[in-house]
Amino acid sequence: MIKHRIRSTEEYIVLSISGASALCIAPFVLIRIFHGEWAMALLDSFAVLSTAFLFIYVYLTGKILFARRFLALLCVVIVVATIALKGPQQLVWLYPAIIGIFFLLNPQQSFIIAAAMVTVLGIFLWEKLNYIFVVQYIFSTLITLLFSYSFADRMLRQKTQLKELSIKDPLTGAGNRRALEEELLRITEQDCELKNHSPCLIIIDLDEFKKINDQFGHSVGDSILREFADLVSQKLTKNEQLYRFGGEEFVVISHDSNQEEASILAESLRESIDQHRFDKNLHVTISLGIAQYSPHETGFEWIGRADKAMYRAKDAGRNLCCIAA
Ligand code: GH3
Ligand code: MG
Ligand code: MG
Repeated sequence: MIKHRIRSTEEYIVLSISGASALCIAPFVLIRIFHGEWAMALLDSFAVLSTAFLFIYVYLTGKILFARRFLALLCVVIVVATIALKGPQQLVWLYPAIIGIFFLLNPQQSFIIAAAMVTVLGIFLWEKLNYIFVVQYIFSTLITLLFSYSFADRMLRQKTQLKELSIKDPLTGAGNRRALEEELLRITEQDCELKNHSPCLIIIDLDEFKKINDQFGHSVGDSILREFADLVSQKLTKNEQLYRFGGEEFVVISHDSNQEEASILAESLRESIDQHRFDKNLHVTISLGIAQYSPHETGFEWIGRADKAMYRAKDAGRNLCCIAA
C-alpha cells in the first residue's frame, strides 16, 4: 500500500528550485549544441542532470538535508563556471543564484557563501569591466545580498515564533493539546522500537478547582494554573515534558523512566504541590494517574488507562497517585 507523506515547505522549496532549474536549463543544452559551444553544452548538461537527479531523489525519499547543500553548491559552481566561460554578459544569472542560495541554507551560511561568490567573481571581472560597470556590480550585488539576508532572517525568526505559538499553551507555557497529540503519535509510531523501554505518562488533575474559581474568581484560578505549571516544570528533567491536556488537567510524559521511577516522580510532584502555598496563600492538591506505554496500544488508549487510574485516586479521597492496571 502506498503511504502518503505530507511534504514540508522546505521539501517543496528544494523540489521547485531543482525542478525549475532542470526545465529552464534544458533548452540551453540544445542551443549550445546548435551553436557548437561544446564546453557550455557540457556544463548545461551537467546542471540539468544533477538538478533532475536531486528532484527525483527528494521526490522519492523526502530527504532534504544533503539535497539543500548540494543544490546550493550547484548554484555557485554553475554560475561561476558560466561567467568564467561566457564572460560578463552571463552576470544576469548571479542574482537568481543568490536568491536560490538564501532559500536553501540558513541566513548566515547563505550570506557567507553568496558574499564569497560575489567577491571571487568581482576579482575575476575587475579587468574585464569598465569603471561604471564595476560600481553597478558592487552596489547591485550588495543590495541583493542585504535584502536577501534581512528577508531570510526575518522569515526564520517568524517561523520559530509561529512554531512556538502553535505548540504552547498561552496561559501556562506548557505544551498544548496539539503538541501532546503529536508526541503521542510519534511514540506510538515507533512502537516496535520501544519493546525494551516504554515511556511513562502521568496525568494530573487539580482537585476541586471549580471551588477555587467560584470562591476567588477566574483570574486567581488562572494564576494558580500558571504557578502550578511553573512548579512542575522546575521539577522535570529534559526527558520529561509537561503538556496541558485541557482545563485543569495536565500530562507529563517521561521518556526515560520505568513505571516505578515515574511513580516516584508523581509522588514528589504531589508532595511539592501539597506543601506549596499558592496565590492568596491557597492550598491546592492534585490527583495523579500513572501508566507505562503498552506495546500496540494507541495514544488514546494509553491516556485512557492513566485517566482511569487518576479517577481511582479521586475516588479514594484525592491528593493521591494511582498506577494504571
Ligand atoms: P475534581 O477534584 O473532581 O477534579 O473537581 P474539579 O472542580 O477540579 O473538577 P471540575 O471538572 O468540576 O471543574 C474543573 C474546573 O476547572 C471548572 C473550570 O471552570 C476550571 N477551569 C478549566 N480551565 C480553566 C482555566 O483556564 N482557568 C480557570 N481559572 N479555570 C479553569
Ligand atoms: Mg479537577
Ligand atoms: Mg478535570
